[in-house]
Amino acid sequence: MEKKIILIATSNAGKVREMEKAFEGLPVRLVPLSRIREVLPDAGEIEEPVEDGETFLENARIKAHYYRTQTGLAALADDSGLTVEVLGGAPGVYSARYAGVHGDDAANNTKLIAEIRAQGTENAAAAYHCALVLVLEDGRELGAEGTCAGFIRPEARGTEGFGYDPHFYRADGRSMAELSRAEKHTISHRGAALDMMKKMLAEAL
Ligand code: IMP
Repeated sequence: MEKKIILIATSNAGKVREMEKAFEGLPVRLVPLSRIREVLPDAGEIEEPVEDGETFLENARIKAHYYRTQTGLAALADDSGLTVEVLGGAPGVYSARYAGVHGDDAANNTKLIAEIRAQGTENAAAAYHCALVLVLEDGRELGAEGTCAGFIRPEARGTEGFGYDPHFYRADGRSMAELSRAEKHTISHRGAALDMMKKMLAEAL
């Protein structure tokens, strides 16, 4: 069967690798934005869309529809983040720029621990969320979501992962940054959403 091209609306190499692994066995070829000219040689610079959704799913929908419209290719987008109960769901869709600068993990973690302490606790129930939206060439939309429950604690442990992982603990007492990539996939929000998307995509192809 001819492989269907799916544009991945990210250039994050880690995410691309995880998606490739998750969709192994399906007749699809995943193309990250950074390699779009391999399939659309004349593609110009594509500006990033404004992610102003109020939920992870809304943001993933905005990105997937935007890139599908810009390129005519099937497009897969994800949006993810952390919610903390005592913070009323913050940082939520602002997870990547909680402390002001996009992607400043150290500053985001410092702010997170301070905000939780200000609520009079050091052990805060939290969850990671991941939303995935795939808009196929013909405009059909597939959506999948995954969550991963845990606790945020002040102590940082582990060197794997990224973002809030050193402070995000599972019920077994290990932080997310202490898990190997493969282990993380089996319990993570992104792993769950990708497994669900794989099933939906297999049926849609
Ligand atoms: P984005 O989906 O790439 O925009 O990521 C949103 C932000 O959520 C990241 O910058 C991290 O701060 C946080 N985040 C999402 N998934 C994870 C994860 O698996 N571990 C740690 N932090 C995460």
